[in-house]
Amino acid sequence: METKNYTLSDVELTYRPMIINGEDAPASNGETFTRLSPAHEVEVTSFPKGTQEDVDRAVVAARHALDKGWRQSTGSQRSKLLMKVAELIRRDAEALSLAETLETGKPITQSRNEVAGTAELWEYAASLARNTQGDAHNALGPDTLALVVHEPIGVIGMITPWNFPLLIISQKLPFALAAGNTAVIKPSESTSATTVMLGQLIREAGFPGGVVNIVTGNRVVGAAIAEHPGIDMISFTGSTGVGKGIAAAAGRDLKKVELELGGKNPQIITAKADFTAAVDAGVFGGYFNVGQCCNSGSRLIVHRSIADEFASAVVERAQHMRVGDPLKADTLVGSLVNDAQLAVVERYVAEGREAGAHLLTGGGRLENGMDGGRFYQPTVFTDVTAQMSIATDEIFGPVLSVLPYDTLEEAISIANSTSFGLSAGIWSNDINEALTAARDLRAGTVWVNRWMDGYPEVPFGGYGQSGIGRELGRQALAEFSELKTIQLQVGPRETRWVDAPDAARA
Ligand code: NAD
Repeated sequence: METKNYTLSDVELTYRPMIINGEDAPASNGETFTRLSPAHEVEVTSFPKGTQEDVDRAVVAARHALDKGWRQSTGSQRSKLLMKVAELIRRDAEALSLAETLETGKPITQSRNEVAGTAELWEYAASLARNTQGDAHNALGPDTLALVVHEPIGVIGMITPWNFPLLIISQKLPFALAAGNTAVIKPSESTSATTVMLGQLIREAGFPGGVVNIVTGNRVVGAAIAEHPGIDMISFTGSTGVGKGIAAAAGRDLKKVELELGGKNPQIITAKADFTAAVDAGVFGGYFNVGQCCNSGSRLIVHRSIADEFASAVVERAQHMRVGDPLKADTLVGSLVNDAQLAVVERYVAEGREAGAHLLTGGGRLENGMDGGRFYQPTVFTDVTAQMSIATDEIFGPVLSVLPYDTLEEAISIANSTSFGLSAGIWSNDINEALTAARDLRAGTVWVNRWMDGYPEVPFGGYGQSGIGRELGRQALAEFSELKTIQLQVGPRETRWVDAPDAARA
C-alpha cells in the first residue's frame, strides 16, 4: 500500500451525511455537530445531529430491506458482497486511516494496521455467510425427522464507542449481515467518520438500500435505538455503566442484547517469565492507544522477588516511547480522545496518590510543544493494593498499577478480584503455572506469554461486568441468529390424542 506523510495542511473540514435507506441524509431538524482533532485542536468533520425521527426512518428502511429481499438472499450473494467491501476498504485504506487518526488522536501507523485488520474481518465474515447450515436429527423414531435451522434475528441496533471505531463496527456488522440481518448503526459522536465512510463503501459494493443504515449523533440516538420497538436485538460496545442502561431499556421489550463492555485486565508476571518480553508487554498493555483499550493490561501482578526490577524496567521503556503528533509516522502513542477522558485520568491519578500508592513515574500532562493536544505522561504506580480505585476501576488512560504477590494462588485471586472479566494474561515458562492460570483466570480471553492480539476466527467477549455474548469466530453467527426447530412427520400420522367417536354409534 502506498502511504503518505501528512501534515495539517492535508486536513480540511469534511461534512459526512448519514445514510438511511441507501441515501445520504441530513438530520430531520437540519442540525449538525463538529468534531475536532483532539491532538491538533482543528475542526475535521461535521455530521448531522440525528433525532428520534431519523432513527424511526432508519428502522422502517431496515425492516423493509429485511422483508423485501435481504432475508431471502443466498449465502453466496451475501458472501460476494462482504468480500467486495473488504476489497473497497483496502482500496480506500489511506483515506480511512487518516480520518481515524484525526478523530481519535491515534498514530497513523496504528490506524493503518487497524484498517488492514478491518478488511480481514469482512473477508472472514464472507466465509461464514456460506456456512449458515444447521442440524438434522434422524434417530428420533421411524416417523420423525427434525431440522434445526438458523434464521436472521431481524433488525439489529448497533451502538459503538470511540476508541477503535472502524474495527469495532466491523466486529459486528459483517457477521450480522452474513447471518441475514439488517442494521441501524450509531457510531460514537467523537469518531463517526470511518463508520460513515464504511457505509458509503457498503453502498458502492452493491448492498441493497436499507440493509445498512447509519444515524450519527449523541446519546439521544443511542437511547432511541435501545428503546425502539422495531429493533429486534442490540449489539453494544462501550462502558459498563452505559451498557447496563441499554440492557435495561432493551429488556422492556425483551430484545436480545449483546454487550462488549469495560475491563480492568491483569497480567501476571511470574519469577519464571521471559523478563524482557513481559516488560515489553507491560508497556504495550499499558500505553497502546494511550491506555484507551478495553483490553488494556492496566494491572501488573508481579512476583515480589522481581517486582521492583520489573517496575523500573517498565518506567525506563515508557520514558523512551515517542508520544506526540499522531500524523507523524514514527509516533507510537498519540493524544487522549477528549477533555472528559483527560479529566478522568487526572481524577484517578489523584485518587491513587491519596490512597497511598507510590507514583514511580508520570502523573501529569505531557508538555511536548503541541498546544491544545491532550497528551499525558506514561504513568506507573507501585505499592498498589487490590482495593484502591486505580486497581479496581477502568481508567482508560496511560496508568499502570504494579501489585506484588507471593504465591500463584494469591496472584490469581488478585487477578479475579474485580467485577470485570474481559481478558487476562500470564507470563511464565513453567507449563504448570501457565496452565493453572489459564484455567483459573476468570476472563473471556487468556493470553499465555503474549498480550492483546486477536483474530477474526477466535471469539471475543467478557465474563462478569465485561459483557454478555461473544463477537467474532463462527460463534458470532449464532449470536446474530435465531434457532428454529422444524419437526416433520414421516408417513401417515397414526397416533391420536383422543379417539374418534365409534363409527357404529354414529
Ligand atoms: P460509552 O459507553 O460512553 O459510549 C458508547 C456509545 O454509547 C457511544 O456511541 C455513545 O454515544 C453511546 N451512548 C452513551 N450514552 C448512551 C445512552 N444513555 N443511551 C444510549 N447510547 C448511549 O463508551 P465510550 O466512552 O465511547 O468508550 C469507552 C468504553 O468502551 C470503555 O468502557 C471500554 O472498555 C469500552 N469498550 C469495550 C470494548 C469491548 O469489546 N469489550 C471495546 C472497546 C471499548
